[in-house]
Amino acid sequence: MNIEELRQSLLQAPKNGYAELTDAQRAEMETYCKGYSDFMTACKTEREATAWTVATAEAHGFKPLVPGMTLKPGDKVYHNNRGKSILLAVMGSESLNSGANICAAHVDSPRMDLKPNPLYEDSEIAYFKTHYYGGIKKYQWATIPLALHGVVYRKDGSVVTITIGEDDNDPILCVSDLLIHLSADQMKKTLAEGISGEQLNVILGTEPLQGEGSDLVKLHIMKLLNEKYGLIESDFLSAELTMVPAGKCREVGLDRSLLGCYGHDDRVCAYAEIVPLLTMGTPKHTAVCILADKEEIGSVGISGMQSTAFETFMQDLCDATGANLNRCFENSFCLSADVSNAYDPNFAETCDPRNNSKLNYGVAICKYTGSRGKGGASDASAEAMGHVRTTLNNAGVKWQIATLGKVDQGGGGTVAAYMANRNIVTVDAGVPVLCMHAPMELVSKYDCYMTMLACQAIYLA
Ligand code: MN
Ligand code: MN
Repeated sequence: MNIEELRQSLLQAPKNGYAELTDAQRAEMETYCKGYSDFMTACKTEREATAWTVATAEAHGFKPLVPGMTLKPGDKVYHNNRGKSILLAVMGSESLNSGANICAAHVDSPRMDLKPNPLYEDSEIAYFKTHYYGGIKKYQWATIPLALHGVVYRKDGSVVTITIGEDDNDPILCVSDLLIHLSADQMKKTLAEGISGEQLNVILGTEPLQGEGSDLVKLHIMKLLNEKYGLIESDFLSAELTMVPAGKCREVGLDRSLLGCYGHDDRVCAYAEIVPLLTMGTPKHTAVCILADKEEIGSVGISGMQSTAFETFMQDLCDATGANLNRCFENSFCLSADVSNAYDPNFAETCDPRNNSKLNYGVAICKYTGSRGKGGASDASAEAMGHVRTTLNNAGVKWQIATLGKVDQGGGGTVAAYMANRNIVTVDAGVPVLCMHAPMELVSKYDCYMTMLACQAIYLA
């Protein structure tokens, strides 16, 4: 062989996905991404994503999984975990003893939650106090349009859902920042300190009610909330209200190749998991889709991936088909579907470009996450990586490899370790994202589409 033949036969030569995209695939990609954009505009919290998924799944023939029911191949069931996370399954033709093919994503995203006593007035301006949820750069959340989303359990026991700031006729909310003219001291601070957690106070209003006494702006805001939602101040004590960036998912770039919005991490993988499941026939192995909560704060709590809500769901599936849960886990495979960091030439020094995912190179497969010597990572085996490689290659899915930044630069985790701890072979994979955890994150349409095809291929493996 000459050098060129040797090069072609022995070395990798990754290509941009657009080099191989057919017209038919492009059309399918655009349709898929339109649906995804609508999903992102509609769903900004784990509750909204769960509610959307319940409604969509039911429209496609999924039924609530009821303990004690019997299930047969092709049956489609789901379990709504308290409105905060959801598990779905399409029963396979083979016994669950031979394992399930699982895709696990999360539907919570970093944001600013209201404190239990959020409402106050200072200098005749009314505010909400917040406590940020997940990893955010606090300075990014000032001076951007914000919307209020969530639910309130009122004194009388009724629950009201609140969304303010998304409709064009709604007001938006905002956190202020200091004018540059007076920022001599602030500008000397680090980015981490420039806006502090206790400065993430959301402006609610400035008009006082007319009358005697203090806190007349606060009282005005409370009166408005009472008129529209029947709230009294103590109702905030039993509420989950959160501030998220207001606005729609939009095409980004003159070529419209990107999508920009809040919360791609990780609803971009959640949607990629749901879509192929909805119209699936009877798979060989039972296909299981997990949309988990609380990933951004460690997968803890009753709706997080460490919760035994997952075991309960899988046990119910096993009971309904006469299978054994431990055998099922032992023979299952899980794609931990979560986003990776797309290579950003603006911050090239943070990555190892030879091992970083890139926009438009397809779904990013991540052998390990973690930090400081892979700490906290699942670290998939050669066999697990090989399974994914073969499955995706056979299905014609464009994929690439990913690592989270250069060694000792930082790091992060996913639900992978919690799945692997259950004796389930697990590999991380997902959509590369630019400016992850920022109020607006960017993904490529091509990578979104390939991640959906990857989830489909894993379900059908
Ligand atoms: Mn994530
Ligand atoms: Mn995240």
